[in-house]
Amino acid sequence: MPELEKELKKYYGYDTFRAGQREVIDTILNGRDVLAIMPTGSGKSVCYQLPALLLGGITIVVSPLISLMKDQVAALGEIGVRAAYINSSLTPNQTLLALKNASRGMYKIIYVAPERLETDSFRQFSHRADISLVAIDEAHCVSQWGHDFRRSYLNVSNYIATLPKRPVVAAFTATATERVRRDISDLLCLHDPKCVTTGYDRPNLYFGVDNPKDKFSYVLDFIRRRRGKSGIIYCSTRKQTDLLCDALRDRGIEACKYHAGLTDAERGKNQEDFVYDRATVIVATNAFGMGIDKSNVSFVIHYNMPLSVESYYQEAGRAGRDGANAECVLLYSKADIAVGKFMLDRSFDALKEEFPEEAEASLEVNRQKFDDAIKLFGSKSCLRARILDYFGEAYKNKTCGKCSVCLKKNTALTPNSVKLTVGALVKATGGRFGASMIASILSGEKNERIIERGFDKLYEFGSLRLSGKLKIRDMIDAMIAEGSLEVCGSQYPVLKLSPEFEKTLAAAGAVRTVAAAPLVPNTLKADVKTVEKLKCWRKKAADIAGVPPYIIMSDLTIDRIAVSRPRNIIELSRIDGMSDERIKRYGKNILSALAKD
Ligand code: ADP
Ligand code: ZN
Repeated sequence: MPELEKELKKYYGYDTFRAGQREVIDTILNGRDVLAIMPTGSGKSVCYQLPALLLGGITIVVSPLISLMKDQVAALGEIGVRAAYINSSLTPNQTLLALKNASRGMYKIIYVAPERLETDSFRQFSHRADISLVAIDEAHCVSQWGHDFRRSYLNVSNYIATLPKRPVVAAFTATATERVRRDISDLLCLHDPKCVTTGYDRPNLYFGVDNPKDKFSYVLDFIRRRRGKSGIIYCSTRKQTDLLCDALRDRGIEACKYHAGLTDAERGKNQEDFVYDRATVIVATNAFGMGIDKSNVSFVIHYNMPLSVESYYQEAGRAGRDGANAECVLLYSKADIAVGKFMLDRSFDALKEEFPEEAEASLEVNRQKFDDAIKLFGSKSCLRARILDYFGEAYKNKTCGKCSVCLKKNTALTPNSVKLTVGALVKATGGRFGASMIASILSGEKNERIIERGFDKLYEFGSLRLSGKLKIRDMIDAMIAEGSLEVCGSQYPVLKLSPEFEKTLAAAGAVRTVAAAPLVPNTLKADVKTVEKLKCWRKKAADIAGVPPYIIMSDLTIDRIAVSRPRNIIELSRIDGMSDERIKRYGKNILSALAKD
């Protein structure tokens, strides 16, 4: 068994596996079929790409998303892996050339659209090739019970059956209903598959519901406060998409738009502007999103109530794929309910023409789903817990501390609970710190000293974020004045608990459950100028390579570099996200970008 972490670092630059990844990879390497159910953004690609690199022979990846294939192949190129794709965007000649190269063993990974599996040329190639793994992405497409049935997926098992040697088969999806799961296993003819599920939670996403009087000002302000961050704004109608996009552009925001009323060319261009960071915001209907893989989307705003929790979660899930903290905000007004009902009726009318009976049943279901969404997002209990509950998963905690409901509860911090929390941290850190450091930790400041020493891992880190650092300082001063804290220390002043307060604290008992840490969703506190320098370098590198900037390097890795300011290649290569190939290609340039004034 290879040391998988080493391989992960070597190829991708990541330090640790995400939930489920190692299990899937181990299973494939041991020769057993897998059915992996993992939410969007959880890192499914690594699960089949890494085995593809470690196994002998070729890996075939079946995917319905043609536009994604190009990006994936480019991303593999960036990590030094030769890959190709075969789909309807290639001319017959290009296809033949690709297959010829493939037969010569030029590619380790080949992406293919399901309808291409049936073609003679692909069959011939497959007969001669040494195929060790077939990975099926978006595997729910094989099921009529999934949300995106594609007939061509029914060919996949046929294709596999005709191969001279049966490869390992690994199926991936984010949809997890029992029915779909069974269909995937049966219709793809998986052999005793190991089922790996990671759960639906996306811990790095903040979920918020807000009810502003003026949605437009809210959104404008929201975007302006997040300079340089990419985001998607979902609207329920084309008209609103047009209006909002124009209004944002009038105010100087680099926005573009996407909906089914635009021409193919317009849609293609706008999507590309967004993916390549030429536009920071895309305003879109729900037609947008499938087939984009941009990892540095740091917020998704729903301008209206979505029609179902399923569609909400899929759309919101496009934020924060790189693992950085990201925000999902739903703006909700009473008027949305009428609009939603109108849209449901309209799709009912359209369907009724063709399939009258089906239409009745589906209207019923869709109305129920819309009602569920309204109820869920109007709820007064933890949104994350409610969402997971909706998908049949119990959330391990009562509250998450990272949704608008939990954060609001936390504003109700009483002076007494603040006092107890300060005391708990002073005690937990053994009287080593002064007032300033204590206040920094409690307010969740991510400065260099704090990160370096791992104080951001402390339980109390950020637990009084909502009070703000100044208020915490005031409270500490007040506690010193009343004698519950003492200032001592010979070299520099540190805080200690007074014996009386120590008793109070002990009597309070469960003080460590006070004020669960609400994480205000931002990324590391990196110096803005340094980040800009690095992004400027990244943009140039992306232009030269002809790929979107996030493929060169994720925003999170850029933040990490900016925070730790490596001075040489060794230090740079230790940063999470720096792979061997990235160091080789860009190491020097990154260091000189950092050194620039
Ligand atoms: P999915 O297909 O499940 O939606 P992707 O495979 O597109 O997710 O991965 C989402 C992002 O997470 C990508 O940018 C990928 O590089 C990144 N990623 C994957 N695995 C890891 C990991 N172990 N550590 C950090 N980032 C990861
Ligand atoms: Zn919550």
